[in-house]
Amino acid sequence: MTLQRPASITDAFLDQLVARVPSTSGGTWKLTEVYTGDVLVELPQSTPADVERAYAAARAAQVDWAARPLKERLEVFKRAHTLFIDNAERTTDLIQVESGKNRRMAIEETCDPVMVMSHYLKRAPKLLKPVKRGGPVPMVSTSTEIRQPKGVIGIIAPWNFPFATGISDSISALMAGNGIVLKPDNKTALSPLYGVQMLEEAGLPKGLFQVVCGEGPDVGPTLIDNANYVMFTGSTATGRVIGERAGRNLIGCCLELGGKNPMIVLEDANKDEVVQGLMFGAFGNTGQICMHIERVYLPASQYDDYKRRLVAATQALRVGASYDFSMDVGSLVSPDHKDRVQAHVEDAVAKGARVLTGGQARPDLGPAFFEPTILEGVTKDMLAGVTETFGPVVALHRYSTVDEAVALANDTDYGLNASVWGGDVETACQVGKRIESGNVNVNDILATAFASKGTPSGGVKQSGVGARHGDQGLLKYTDVQNLAVLKKQVMGARPGQDYDKYVTSMLSGLKMMRKTRIR
Ligand code: NAD
Repeated sequence: MTLQRPASITDAFLDQLVARVPSTSGGTWKLTEVYTGDVLVELPQSTPADVERAYAAARAAQVDWAARPLKERLEVFKRAHTLFIDNAERTTDLIQVESGKNRRMAIEETCDPVMVMSHYLKRAPKLLKPVKRGGPVPMVSTSTEIRQPKGVIGIIAPWNFPFATGISDSISALMAGNGIVLKPDNKTALSPLYGVQMLEEAGLPKGLFQVVCGEGPDVGPTLIDNANYVMFTGSTATGRVIGERAGRNLIGCCLELGGKNPMIVLEDANKDEVVQGLMFGAFGNTGQICMHIERVYLPASQYDDYKRRLVAATQALRVGASYDFSMDVGSLVSPDHKDRVQAHVEDAVAKGARVLTGGQARPDLGPAFFEPTILEGVTKDMLAGVTETFGPVVALHRYSTVDEAVALANDTDYGLNASVWGGDVETACQVGKRIESGNVNVNDILATAFASKGTPSGGVKQSGVGARHGDQGLLKYTDVQNLAVLKKQVMGARPGQDYDKYVTSMLSGLKMMRKTRIR
């Protein structure tokens, strides 16, 4: 049976979406439907001059936006919240055609901006309210902490969660009064373009949120050089390039990078839940989740039992192309990425690893399909042993003591996410605290941490700088202004005052200051 593209994805709709991308060169990029490899639409490519003009337009719109009362700005997101939910099916269709992920992951992705809006709609008024603090001299001085928007934020997003990373990370920046210039990945520009369209339907001023498209090295430098702050999500290698350039420009940046995430299974873990959890942890989004699991540490005494159960569960997964919920695992994002995943598996096998199940590309299913794969015997001299594979490939390892498991989990340059499973939650938490990782999920893979929008989520070590979510997920898009007022000139020696007496009174004033409640 031939695969029918979702009815909502008409040529007219696609043309309308891409018309938003500025391109004076007329150059285009062929954006394909991943399941078939057919061209969906010619995506306009922006030149550096187009990027500069996008910043100018966003900057002009930002001045009025920042001057609006916060309450008025937030009204836009209340309407957008409803619109995003009402159009979730169409967004899901877009995410699926451009990324090839299965429908469950695509619809779950549409929930992320909605959750982020919901959180910051409640939190932004508190975070953006000026905070009056005591000045250095009681009664006659004050200092007020005022949060000013930074200006225009450059956002660079990857292809694995294009709608979530492109739109969710913009929401708190916009609420704080900033404009946005977003560069999505060429492969997955459609769903973020639709997100911007919906935000404008909800009342976001036209021009405030710009989308430019192009290959990273072509448009990236101009994008960073014109930004007041950069929010980047992508690989560690590219993050280093972005961070260096932002540093040279003396602007802040948040870098959300890759991982090589471990899972430790303790002896008292619930085996059924571990197996079910790992099917998502290793193969959800076809293994293309930054927080997904690539290394599993199992107690030696239970290793063979787990191995049998995990192989059986993996072989039961339904893998294929469909725009309904019938498939557990979809495609990788592109034939190039499939080649990279395959190279990791072949390298591991050539160096002595064993394939327990999977291990093959599946051209019969589509141009970028790869089987869910379990390996054992993976070592650190293999690509799959040290660097992020970012595909449906997971390695099983055995451990003898919990100390050994923790040491193995920490034996990596990355520190994005870790998962610990155990019947005794307190013990599992104690193990989790010993893992060098920005996120640790106990008895879950990643969703509990990522969906907790009130807590910052970011990587340590080579997995990133800064975080999204939590208070800092909004405050990072602001500058602090310290507005200090002195009502009467009382500081310093008065003209003609004896300096020794002044010093004595100043020093006793300092002693008093510690005893008052002024901070
Ligand atoms: P990537 O680094 O290749 O590309 C990410 C984005 O950066 C794309 O839009 C790309 O066009 C752009 N880019 C590339 N070179 C650039 C340059 N020189 N200047 C400016 N922009 C440039 O990453 P990817 O392959 O698209 O995404 C997968 C990676 O993203 C994985 O490593 C994954 O772990 C990571 N990721 C991390 C998180 C997180 O929250 N930590 C979330 C999703 C994905």
